[in-house]
Amino acid sequence: MKERKNILLPCPFCGGTAYFKNPVRKGLHKELSVECKRCGAAPYTLEVYGNKSNEEMKTDLAAVWNRRGEKENDWIPVSKKTPEYDKPVLAQWRIFYSDIDQMDILYMNGFGEWYSESGDIYGKVIAWKLLPEPYKEE
Ligand SMILES: [Zn+2]
Repeated sequence: MKERKNILLPCPFCGGTAYFKNPVRKGLHKELSVECKRCGAAPYTLEVYGNKSNEEMKTDLAAVWNRRGEKENDWIPVSKKTPEYDKPVLAQWRIFYSDIDQMDILYMNGFGEWYSESGDIYGKVIAWKLLPEPYKEE
């Protein structure tokens, strides 16, 4: 079965159906946005330089749109939801046989195992949250 990553969740403002607008080429880059059919909300436009395919652009943009329902500052218990595979998140984890909690940027692999840049962690992840958007110079 072909995996479909570019499915859009309903609009977080009104619950309407969201769709991808046609990509627009503007000079050196392409622009793609998602818009709500009902209320017209279109808060995100993706600008792509280079040659990403339209499908890849849609996948990236869908990830942003679909994430918006989550409050960016909320911790998410792993018992409730796990992050996307191999994507860095801020995780709170407890060292085995202790009551010491650590906070680190960790990743979860396709087997549901957590790891850090330096390898396995000796503990159990309790909760995680999305990293903030990186700073961009104006
Ligand atoms: Zn809407």
